[in-house]
Amino acid sequence: MRYLTADYIFPISSPPIKNGVVVIDDDGKILSVTSSVAEKQSQIIEYHSGILCPGFVNTHCHLELSHMRGVIPEKKGLTGFIKNFIAARKTFSSEQIEIGIASGEKEMLENGIVAVGDICNVADTFKQKAKKNLKYYNFIEGFDFFPENTEVELNRVDNVIKELIQIDALADYSAVPHAPYSVSEKYFQTFSKHSPEKILSIHNQESAEENLMFREGKGKIIEFFASIGMDFSHWNASSKSSLQTVLGYFPNENNVLLVHNTFTDLEDVKFAESCSKNIYWATCPNANLYIENKLPDYNLFIEAGAKMTIGTDSLASNYSLSILDEMKTISQHFPQINLEILLKWATLNGAKALGFQNEFGSFEAGKKPGVLLIENINLDKIYITAASKVKRLV
Ligand SMILES: [Zn+2]
Repeated sequence: MRYLTADYIFPISSPPIKNGVVVIDDDGKILSVTSSVAEKQSQIIEYHSGILCPGFVNTHCHLELSHMRGVIPEKKGLTGFIKNFIAARKTFSSEQIEIGIASGEKEMLENGIVAVGDICNVADTFKQKAKKNLKYYNFIEGFDFFPENTEVELNRVDNVIKELIQIDALADYSAVPHAPYSVSEKYFQTFSKHSPEKILSIHNQESAEENLMFREGKGKIIEFFASIGMDFSHWNASSKSSLQTVLGYFPNENNVLLVHNTFTDLEDVKFAESCSKNIYWATCPNANLYIENKLPDYNLFIEAGAKMTIGTDSLASNYSLSILDEMKTISQHFPQINLEILLKWATLNGAKALGFQNEFGSFEAGKKPGVLLIENINLDKIYITAASKVKRLV
């Protein structure tokens, strides 16, 4: 049994406790969280300077792209990013990809991440994941662009799923659509049959151009598709935002992770929240700055009572796989968002979004969420700083 204490304990499921104590068993299971311990236990207590919180949940990653750190130039907009990405992705050997995946996972572990919602276009990451160093929810992602490709693409997705199950029969997975602009209506109508009653995810409103495409049928995305020989001239704009156009395809009973939301407005947030109680909003601020140089307006989401989670996106559009780095960026641009709120986004909300809340996300008796120490905290304001560091204690 271990007794861990620090300046503040953030159980997440209840308010922070100054100088509180987390009691865990030898397997890392939480036994209790208290404001003090009996006198006779005080000799064995482990003191730390900073705060203690549960392990981080990274709700959006592409581990299979971990070999691409620093390869794609920054701030070129989404279409510029995709163009550079397509060209660069072909230039790596399978050995480079494998090394990237192992080191990407190691980086997440070192940065206190305990569970990941991971996008998979291919089967490259499954062997590493079978080592069970981290808990993963696999989103097997497809994009058909046109209805004539739907069947072939869903077959391809099914084959990736088969490879996953062959390597790990107990793996968590769903078939998911990539984004509103890359998936046909036919795909939207059929994909969820491949993932009944599971957790779903889609990239949402990552660029202003996505909304322009759906509202007015024009803009850089359609121009980009035309430049690579894809004819969208028969494609019909819906006169609505991309989110309002496609959200109805997702069954209400499924958790749906909407990823990025950089150009989502209050009307969109309210619309989504009125459609379903199971919407989770994954923000990846460092990737948003990398690609579009713009952050979501978090005030809108807070105002609408939206359930926020945090993702790192991939190392193709980020310099680290660290939830603390993402929290620092949010704090720096939105200092009014306090640490208690940010940590809830980084832990319990993410665990609930991925269906992992029985094990992860909070210091509650019976869970094994991991215990993180965050050092170099501004203790007067209870605020993370640029110098804050995370260490995994359990
Ligand atoms: Zn992504």
